Amino acid sequence: MFGSAGIAAADDTDLKKTELPEGKRAGPMAIDDSSSSIFSPWPDRLRHSAIILLAAGLAMTVLVAFGELSLVRATAVFICIGAAALVPWRLHNAVASREDVRGVNPVEAAAVSAVVAGMPDPAVLLDRAGRVIHLNAAAAQLAPALRKNELAQFALRSPEIITALREAIATSETRRATYLDHVPVDRWMELIIAPVPVPTLFGGTDKCMLMTFHDQTPLRRVEEMRADFVANASHELRTPLAALSGFIDTLQGPARDDAKARERFLGIMHTQATRMARLIDDLLSLSRVELSAHVRPDTLVDIVPIIRQVADGLEPLARERQVAIEIDLPDTPVTIAGDREELLRLFENLIENALKYGASGGKVMVSLTSAVSGEGAPEVRVMVRDFGPGIAPEHLPRLTERFYRVDVGDSRAQGGTGLGLSLVKHILNRHRGRLLIESVLKKGATFTACFPQIRTLAES
Ligand code: ADP
Repeated sequence: MFGSAGIAAADDTDLKKTELPEGKRAGPMAIDDSSSSIFSPWPDRLRHSAIILLAAGLAMTVLVAFGELSLVRATAVFICIGAAALVPWRLHNAVASREDVRGVNPVEAAAVSAVVAGMPDPAVLLDRAGRVIHLNAAAAQLAPALRKNELAQFALRSPEIITALREAIATSETRRATYLDHVPVDRWMELIIAPVPVPTLFGGTDKCMLMTFHDQTPLRRVEEMRADFVANASHELRTPLAALSGFIDTLQGPARDDAKARERFLGIMHTQATRMARLIDDLLSLSRVELSAHVRPDTLVDIVPIIRQVADGLEPLARERQVAIEIDLPDTPVTIAGDREELLRLFENLIENALKYGASGGKVMVSLTSAVSGEGAPEVRVMVRDFGPGIAPEHLPRLTERFYRVDVGDSRAQGGTGLGLSLVKHILNRHRGRLLIESVLKKGATFTACFPQIRTLAES
């Protein structure tokens, strides 16, 4: 019932358009309108009726010639036929069933349908009453209840969509709405309903509405990540800062003349200041690597001395933690396309983590091997293995997230920032490599940095 009311409304509009006064028509439209007017000009009418008049004239002449019809009667019949043929031919069209008009309406033409079908996002073309004229496959998937020639309101359940649709229909203005779609997964969708004037056969325009849906989930996620990141970074910086200003107050006040306390507090302040400096350092490194993420390093570097340099540099920490670093590296150079500074940072993070978090195992092994990836590409693999407490499987997928720690207290106690593995992942991404993490609880953890092997001259 509602549907039929909609049809009537649309048809009324079509009729009104044919009756628009000349003055209200725009330039190009006026040219079109003159040919589609009910009262077409005489030359046009004669042109369109010429065959009828000719055939009628011939038939009458033959009938008079053979004496079948008197000249007077033949003339009368010819005048009748001529009058009927010369009636403004557009009137026939106007009077013709509006159902026919609907059938050939340009809005339903193949080109319009192809444009809607070709839109990458879900798209639905509606008539001014909100009835579906066209919808593409993506829209059918998004709202399976949408049907051609049926009102879209009945198929779309979200109140935000219905409100926007009603407003767009009522005002003929663009309306936007954002809503959370729960099926098949939670997605933030943006809906835009924009009026689109589509030309009709009568030379006017039909106000249709194009409804498009855009998945905003990736954008929202990035926004959330950015907000989380700023909140985390501020929190991480605020903690040591609060400690520093607290100790400064104490040193200026109650502990002013306490030499012993002063010594102890200055030690703590130094640790906190170092932590802040390290955090800022890690943040800057991360942002630098991210900025150049799309530029793959093209300098050829031998990674064997780089790993050795890092292991040697961490020897004091290993001694302090009573961990033995066992290195198994080839004697020949292993060259990859890489950034020396970033590689130093990468291996430093992995070996330092093994020394800090896996110290209880007493041993850290660093080895370099060649292997073939799952896709069959030759790789250089640097494996850092410890024999500490290991990492529970539920943490493994999140370890490379910024500020993610298994145990925040433990990480802070070790001077960690929670950015080390995130940096490792970004450096490897830039080198078109990947990070493998394996761990068995109470048996230790293995972090493997895989780099694509460069093609030798003989291979290329
Ligand atoms: P952090 O600065 O805290 O060390 P990372 O990103 O380097 O940050 O590491 C993230 C977390 O992963 C650490 O806080 C720690 O809980 C865990 N982790 C990293 N390496 C190891 C390891 N070898 N053994 C056990 N846990 C580890």
